[in-house]
Amino acid sequence: MNKQLRKAVIAGNWKMNKTPEEAKELISAIAPLVKDAGCEVIACTPYVDLYSAQEAAKGTNIQIGAENCHWAESGAFTGEISAKMLSSMGVKIVIIGHSERRQYFGETDATVHDRVRAALDAGLTVILCVGETLTQREQGITDELCAMQTKIALNGVSKEELSRIIIAYEPVWAIGTGKTATAQQANEVCAAIRKTIGALYDSKAADGITIQYGGSMNAGNAAELLAQPDVDGGLIGGASLKPGDFAAIVEAATRG
Ligand code: PEP
Repeated sequence: MNKQLRKAVIAGNWKMNKTPEEAKELISAIAPLVKDAGCEVIACTPYVDLYSAQEAAKGTNIQIGAENCHWAESGAFTGEISAKMLSSMGVKIVIIGHSERRQYFGETDATVHDRVRAALDAGLTVILCVGETLTQREQGITDELCAMQTKIALNGVSKEELSRIIIAYEPVWAIGTGKTATAQQANEVCAAIRKTIGALYDSKAADGITIQYGGSMNAGNAAELLAQPDVDGGLIGGASLKPGDFAAIVEAATRG
């Protein structure tokens, strides 16, 4: 299937950066630079920034997303935020399973699955992160690992619901390290994940799903990564905090 028929998505993951006031400034700085984007543009912000980012994004083509959500609708989960809370404030997108959540906050494939379920039930679109550590890559289990993470996360997700899933392939060793997967490595794994979707659903689903690459994507390397046939966009950490760099990545995605 022609890659151009898939939805290209560039999403920023701000991580634990920016106060609400700074969020407003950052969105206002990015907005004029990406107004002619030929791809979807998303900024996923800390919870406390969602409202001011949404206000700043009004009337622009930037969508505001969250960086996580809990699997329960409500209850005794101090410090957590439910998918319903996000959707009730107009948030439509949420990142789930980011490797920093897996690494620092005990996120497992099972809890990723439960959070995906909750997000879909609340009507959200999910950016589902999968990816291998350096050791796993060296052990030659990258494709199996990504297939396993994908299968567990999507267990019970219907074909209709799959239209609200974006997968972000993020090799853990490339996140925030300045080490990028080569364009070939990124494409190989994105293609393998697409194959997994084909096996789980069908070839139409595989052809239609947006699969991003994430891991030290920046203004300099984005064009080559985004030109790959199976790479449909990017999940951007560090560079999403720099308006010019983020806009250059959006421009690269627009060119495809
Ligand atoms: C991320 O946080 O998803 C990410 C890819 O970070 P960075 O671009 O900084 O590697």
